[in-house]
Parts: sequence; C-alpha cells; structure tokens
Amino acid sequence: MSEERVFARTLVTSALPYANGLIHLGHIAGAYLPADVFVRYKRMRGEKILFIGGSDEYGVPITLTALKEGISPKDVIDRYHSANAESFAQLGISYDLYGRTSWDLHIDTTQQFFKNLHAGGYIHEEDMELWYSVQSDRFLPDRYVKGVCPRCGYADANADECESCGAQYPPHDLREPRANIPGDSSTPVLRNSRHWFLDLPQFAERIKSWLDEHPEWRANVKGIAYGWVGDLRTRCITRDTDWGVPIPLDDPGAASKRIYVWFDAPIGYVTNTRQWGIDVHGDADAWKPWWKDQDTRLIHFMGKDNVPFHTVIFPAVLLGQGDFILPDQVPGSEYLNVFNRQTGQTEKGSKSKGNMISVRWILEQFDPDVIRYYLCAIAPESKDSSFDWDDLAARYNGELCDVVGNFVHRSLTMAVKNFEDQVPQPGVLDAEDQAMLDAIPAQLDLIAEALDGFRFRQGLERFIDLGRKANVYFDGKQPWVTRKTDLERTATTLYVCCQVVHALAYAMTPFLPGGAMRLAAILGVTLGKGGPEGGADVWEEGKRLIPAGTPLNPPQVLFPKLDKDRIAELAEIHRNGGAM
Ligand SMILES: [Zn+2]
Repeated sequence: MSEERVFARTLVTSALPYANGLIHLGHIAGAYLPADVFVRYKRMRGEKILFIGGSDEYGVPITLTALKEGISPKDVIDRYHSANAESFAQLGISYDLYGRTSWDLHIDTTQQFFKNLHAGGYIHEEDMELWYSVQSDRFLPDRYVKGVCPRCGYADANADECESCGAQYPPHDLREPRANIPGDSSTPVLRNSRHWFLDLPQFAERIKSWLDEHPEWRANVKGIAYGWVGDLRTRCITRDTDWGVPIPLDDPGAASKRIYVWFDAPIGYVTNTRQWGIDVHGDADAWKPWWKDQDTRLIHFMGKDNVPFHTVIFPAVLLGQGDFILPDQVPGSEYLNVFNRQTGQTEKGSKSKGNMISVRWILEQFDPDVIRYYLCAIAPESKDSSFDWDDLAARYNGELCDVVGNFVHRSLTMAVKNFEDQVPQPGVLDAEDQAMLDAIPAQLDLIAEALDGFRFRQGLERFIDLGRKANVYFDGKQPWVTRKTDLERTATTLYVCCQVVHALAYAMTPFLPGGAMRLAAILGVTLGKGGPEGGADVWEEGKRLIPAGTPLNPPQVLFPKLDKDRIAELAEIHRNGGAM
C-alpha cells in the first residue's frame, strides 16, 4: 500500500549495534548498507528524509566484558561506540545523527515510554524464581549464569535462553547451573525476585491487523512477524542489574533493578531523533512530527535476528504510547555467511570461529567503494548469502571495473584527447545513437523502481546493465577506428558516450558515493545533498543531456582493479582469524 501513498517525510532507522564489539561485514550487508543506499537515493529525489542510528549501550554482556577486563562498563561502551561510529563514517554510512543509549536524554525518553505503558495498564508485576549466587551476593541475569539447555542439551546456555537452539524457558528449567562471573563459578540457588512484565497479548489483535495491511513486505519478514504475533506472551522488561535505565516507579523493589536492554534499545531511535532536533533546530519538539505525524513514513532496516523486535514488540510499545506512528516498511535481511575455500564449506560468522571480518580491518585494505559494491551485489535480501574472497575480486574487477569503470575511462579519455577537453559537438544522430540516448532515462527509471521496492541488489545490477549497454554501443561504433577516418562520426559517438557517463555518475551515487564524487568532479556537476529539509529532484537531472562544449577535467581511473595476489594474502589472514 505504501507504493501509492505519498508521505510528507521519511524517517529511516538502522538497528543499533551493540557497543560490546566491533561491527563486522555481516552487520553492514544486512542492516546498514541497504539503509544508506536507500537514504542516499531518497535524498537525491529531494524527499525529506532523516537517517537515525546509534549505539546500544546497556545490558549484561557489556557489564560482563567490563568485569573480565577489570574496567567500567562506561569504558567498554566508549571504546566500541567511537570505533563503530568511525567505521560507519569511513564506509560512508551517512547518518544524520549517530547517538548513544547511555545519554541522559535516553533515560528520560525510556522512562516516559515505561510510564505511559504502566499508566495504560500494559505493565504488571510478577514474582520470578531467579538464580542467585550466594558467593557474590547477587542475582544472575542472562549470561551471568550458564548451564545445560533444557531442550537441546547445549552446555553453554544462558539463564533463560539457549543461543544454540533458540529455546526460551523459565530460568528454573536451566539444568546444572553455574555462576558465570570472573572469580565465581559457584552453583547458584533459586530465589524470588519481583519484576515488571509487558503485557504483549493485549496488543496482539492490533499488531495482527497492522501486519495484514502490509502484504508488500518481504516474505521472510512477514513469516517471522506472523509467527511471533500468533504466540505472544508477557515478557519481563526488567533485570537485576545496575547497568541500565532506572525503573521510574516509586517502589523500593525497583531500586536494585533496571529496565532490560531489549526494551530500551529501539526507544533509542526516538531519543536520537530528539537529540537531532535539539542539535540542528535548537528545538526540543522538532522530533515530534517524525514520530507522531501520520504523514511520516517510518522505515526500520535490520538483520533477521532483530525482526521480531521491530515487527511485534517495539510496535506494541509504540501502540501503547497512544500517539506514535507504526513503521510502514521493515526491510529485514537474512544472514551473510562466510565461504571457506579451503574446506569448500559455507560457515556461519562466529566469534569463536574467528571468521568474522570487522569493518575497521577491511577499511584498512580497501577503498570503501570496493566493500560497498561487493556487499550490495551479494546482499542477503531474501536468503542467506556468502562472503567469498575470490568472488569479491571477480565481481568488483569483472563488473564495476571492467564494465562501468572501463567504459567511463575510455569515453572520457578519447573525448578529452580528441575534442579539446570538452563534450564534443555531435553530428546527425543515427538510430543506434538515439537508442543509446533513449536507454538512459529508461535505465534510471528501472534502477529507481528497484530501489523504491527495497531490491538493492537488483538496483545495482541495473546500474551495471547501463554500463553493459554502453560498452556494446561503444564497441559497435568503434570510435578508435573512426577517429582516423571520420571525425564528425567520432564526435557524435563520444557525445552520446558522455551522456551515458553523466547518467552513470547519478546512478552510482547511492551505491558508490566515492566514485560518484570523483566522476562528478571530472564532469563539473554537483550531485546535490538533500536531507531532512528535502530539495530538488537531482535524480531526474541524471536523465538530462549535457550540452556539447561542456568542459571535462582530466579523467582518472574511478575504480582501480584489485590485485589477485593481494586478495589471496588477505584471504589467508582472514582464514587465520586476523580479520577482526
Ligand atoms: Zn538449546
């Protein structure tokens, strides 16, 4: 339904990465690059669009890391927040604001959300039996206790969920429990603790009918969402910890507990929008239209593991506020695996296997456009895909360099050399010239159609296709031959080629902002900025013809080829666990 609907503005979020480790390529392919391609494209269209992200900074894994390293949780989040923010910036993930859930403003937002739900009768209290370490004199939430999964027998299961089989269970079902704190692996005992629960079943009907309004969503996302909404239970939203947002209730039992991280993390989108409004407009209310106006289109990008939170749980939290909008699109991706050429096996990316590739490490090896090109080309949109070093070199060298880069370079080089650094003056256009010119707007429309439909791989393929068509045209016209025999014919050919080059600069902008900027500088065009305030439709300008006589700056190689030996070296480092 969103296809036909016109919105006043669009708010895009991408899942908040957890500030307990470096972001890796799996995160980028699933949540961040698709969001960035979409936002860059919409900015070109002149739509009012705001792109919000940030770090997720509370919760038990962070306090565990701090305990293990003998530092404070604040030290942990500061380290990973700055490292990840820097990686995003270098990769060109163009947030309008990259915030933090440890901000004081976030306490205020989260507590407001909690209080509204509490006042609405959506939060209730229950006594729970939880594992307690007598030795450490504390409750053991989540991974502070390990034991044997009651369902699959996995030996390293957490207090109430198993990372191996995905089972969720009451903590007292965990078998052979042991404390999992540095210096304490004692056998815990069960003790009662009072906690606060979100009454999700109250929202089931409303969530279900909202999902029914979105048949256009990806099948994988709908499958997960309907699975969850059909089996909704109350969920505990507090924990026995001191690292989190305090519970805003005048209740002595609440003082030693905090709001659980899965509850506060997506509220971080709202906090960060508030902060953006204050930073940019100096207006504490500037965020409100982005979250409360029915004419705002809200879009959440994320990986598969975050789909239930964004299609069921967070929407319930939003509904419970009374005046917030719900997302119009939730593009969730499948997983990016790793292909191991030595074993011939596809592996899941995992810390213990050491087979993940951090964004920080790979940015030390390549230009951001290399990474963006390959990850978009293999984006796990509807099914899992695999990162493979040989495939990276083959796709980048064979498609981007050989098809687009090569066409651009030979066209511009010939024009500059033979026609005084200018777009040449054409003679009479023949049918082939005209067909090539006609293909430009048609192909830009096809790319736009794919991007509007959240099919980023297809959008990228259609961009390369424009390069393919141009190469066929160029090879057919043989300007390197006609140059010696018919200068007017050569001028016409290169005039047409310059038009394609111009269009390619626009078409590559969402995917390859670095290459696009280099090309725009050669052509002397600006590709526009766009943003929350909107602007002109720059995408349409890519369809216009640039006049003969337009000056051309000296061409440079847009996308240098990757060296095969270097790729083999990097693959070896990766195999040995050195890419994180
Ligand atoms: Zn299990």
